[in-house]
Amino acid sequence: MSAFAFHTTPQMIVRPGASGEVADIAGAKLGPNILFVTDKGIRNAGLETSAIQSLEAAGHSVTIFDAVEADPSLATLMQAVDTARGCEATGVVALGGGSSLDIAKLAALIAGSGEDIDEAWGVANAKGPRLPLVLIPTTAGTGSEATPVSIITVGGEEKRGVSSPIILPDTAILDAELTVSLPAAATAATGIDAMVHAIEAYASRNANNNPISRMLATEALKLLGANIETAVFSPDNIEARSAMLLGSTLAGMAFANSPVAAVHALAYPIGGTFHIPHGLSNALVLPQVLRFNAAEAENGSYRLYADLCPHAFPNLDQSAGAQAQCAAFIDRLAELSADLGLPTRLRDVGIGEEALPKMASDAMLQTRLLVNNPRDLNEADALAIYKAAW
Ligand SMILES: [Zn+2]
Repeated sequence: MSAFAFHTTPQMIVRPGASGEVADIAGAKLGPNILFVTDKGIRNAGLETSAIQSLEAAGHSVTIFDAVEADPSLATLMQAVDTARGCEATGVVALGGGSSLDIAKLAALIAGSGEDIDEAWGVANAKGPRLPLVLIPTTAGTGSEATPVSIITVGGEEKRGVSSPIILPDTAILDAELTVSLPAAATAATGIDAMVHAIEAYASRNANNNPISRMLATEALKLLGANIETAVFSPDNIEARSAMLLGSTLAGMAFANSPVAAVHALAYPIGGTFHIPHGLSNALVLPQVLRFNAAEAENGSYRLYADLCPHAFPNLDQSAGAQAQCAAFIDRLAELSADLGLPTRLRDVGIGEEALPKMASDAMLQTRLLVNNPRDLNEADALAIYKAAW
C-alpha cells in the first residue's frame, strides 16, 4: 500500500435544524465576538436568522458581513478581514454557498495570524494560527466545508487559491433545512458537481489517492445517485436533501485528499469566459472527458468507472464486463443531466464553435488539475472533447 496523508474537518454535526443550535455546538470555542459571513441572498431569504439568534441568545456579540458575491474578490476578502479586526473577532461563522465559506476561511486565517495573503497563495504556504471557524453550507455541491482550499478572484479575472489544512474549519454543521429553498437548476448543477468530485477523486492519478478517499467517494455516489432526482423534483423532501448534503460533504472529504482532474480543468474556461455556473460547466463536459479517459485501456480508468456504477446507479444491469459497465455508467451520467433539465451541449449555453480553440488552450493552464487525470490530455485532446460536447 502507498503512503498517504489525510486531513479533514474534525467535527461535523449532521441534523436538520442544527444551524439554530450553533451556540450549543460551538459557542465555547468561538469566544465572545463573532464575525458572521454570509451574502445578501441568504439574508433576503432569512436563512441565517436562527443561527444568529442562537449566538446572541447565548451572549455572543455578532457582527454580520454580508457583502460576499459569487466568485468573491480579493477586495471583498480584505473588507471581511477589516470587519473582523474592527469587531475584535474571536471566532468566525459562515453560512452560505461556497463563496461565503471560502471568504470565511481566509478571513479567519488573516485576522488570526496577521499573515500577508500574498505569502499564503498556493499549496501549504498558509501558516496560521487562524481564528476558530464554523462553516454551515447552504448548497449541496462544493464540499467547501470539508476542503482545505479557498478560491479568490484577483484583478477581475485571475483565480488564485490557498490550499492548506490550516483553513479546514473546526466544525461543519450540515443542516439540510437550509438547502430546501435552493432552486431546481442549482440543485441539479451543484449535485452533479458533487458527483464529479467523487468520480474524479476515485480515479485520480494523484500520488495521494488513498483508500479513505475511495471509500468516501463510493458512499458519496450512493447518496447522490439515489437522491438527486428526488431533491430536484420534490424540493421539500428533507430526507433527499439531507442525503445530498451529506453526499456532497463526503465527496469534498474525498477530493480534499485525492484531488480532481480533467473534468474540472475543462470546466474552468467555460465558467471563466462565459460565466456558466461551476456545476453546470462540469456537467457539460463530464461524459466526454470520462469517455476520453476510458478509451485508453492501459490507464485502467474504465475499471474504476465500472466499479462506481453499482454505487451510483444500482438499478442498471451490473452483469456485463467492465468495459460495458463503464460505458453504461457514463451514458447514465449523460442522461441524468438531461433528465434533471440541465442543458447538455455547449451550444445550448450560448458558446459558439469558434470559441472552442481558445477554451482548449485556456484549459491547458490548469496543470495542477490535469496532472491528476488518469490519461494524459493535450490541447488537441481538449479541443476534440469540447467539439464532442458542442
Ligand atoms: Zn467542483
